[in-house]
Amino acid sequence: MRILDKTGTLRMAHDGNGQRPEIDRGALRNLLLSSLPPGLVRWNARVTGIDREESGFKLSFADGGVATAGILIGADGAWSKVRPLVSEASPFYSGISFVELRYLDADQKHPTAAALVGKGLMFALSDERGIFGHREPNNELCVYAALKVPADWSRQPISRDVLHQHFHGWHADFHKVLANSDGDLLPRSIWMLPEGHSWPRTSGVTLLGDAAHLMSPFAGEGANLAMIDGADLASAIIAHPNDIERAFAAYEATMFPRAREAAAASAAGLELAFEPNAPQAMLDFFTPKG
Ligand SMILES: Cc1cc2nc3c(=O)[nH]c(=O)nc-3n(C[C@H](O)[C@H](O)[C@H](O)COP(=O)(O)OP(=O)(O)OC[C@H]3O[C@@H](n4cnc5c(N)ncnc54)[C@H](O)[C@@H]3O)c2cc1C
Repeated sequence: MRILDKTGTLRMAHDGNGQRPEIDRGALRNLLLSSLPPGLVRWNARVTGIDREESGFKLSFADGGVATAGILIGADGAWSKVRPLVSEASPFYSGISFVELRYLDADQKHPTAAALVGKGLMFALSDERGIFGHREPNNELCVYAALKVPADWSRQPISRDVLHQHFHGWHADFHKVLANSDGDLLPRSIWMLPEGHSWPRTSGVTLLGDAAHLMSPFAGEGANLAMIDGADLASAIIAHPNDIERAFAAYEATMFPRAREAAAASAAGLELAFEPNAPQAMLDFFTPKG
């Protein structure tokens, strides 16, 4: 991990301790899917409505189809259609929007970006904004330009000129990075559920992953939590084979405190990244005390 400020000065570098392995999203997805029997996942089946019925749930799909289910596990992400069955909470805007930039064949074609990002993760922080870089497999880089902007900012077309203006006064290398990515600029506004989101036990239904505990990516735990939720829920169902309500209750009792802790860490991480004196608070956070 590398932490820089807007002058391009390297303020901290850490080689890591091997305890935080990373995996490309697509590789992880293929790994998980390849363990399922073919045909189990029904693709292109967007749920548009869910009604509770006497014996379970009726799901309506965008193609006009319907299905019934005895129980329902909402693993349907930030804008979950299942969540309203258990909770009135809905995501709120974190105040931060990212613009995603991608760099292919980075070491050869984008040496400035490759040098800034290094071998892992890079945070450049100043002026309550940031440029975050991440090395991915196949010599590819992902960079987020992160800004405190209103929620609807990313709904308008975003140009490189606009990005250059937001990073006025930053070192020329950062402007080179903003000027020269491959492909389109991809806006990604960051939304979250209230910290400690939970719900009373609700017959026949539960949630996991972002549907249960959407948070900003500043703890780097979103995919980890979704996977451990899935594994814990499976274990709870195996442990209570004839009592799904006990299984759901046991799973939720483990999941709620874990999600609360990660949401607090992600809120704290967001604060550190965007404080006026950044990157100082983040440097302090990573400096061993005593
Ligand atoms: C910019 C950004 C960067 C991030 N970086 C990281 C990171 O580095 N590390 C990390 O761990 N996490 C990161 N996260 C968070 C991570 O992406 C999520 O926490 C994780 O994907 C949650 O997994 P999930 O399965 O719960 O939800 P999702 O990955 O959102 O999956 C939900 C699935 O449900 C489907 N679905 C949704 N609605 C419906 C519907 N109505 N009908 C049918 N299907 C539906 C979707 O198509 C999707 O396949 C990042 C998030 C953002 C926004």
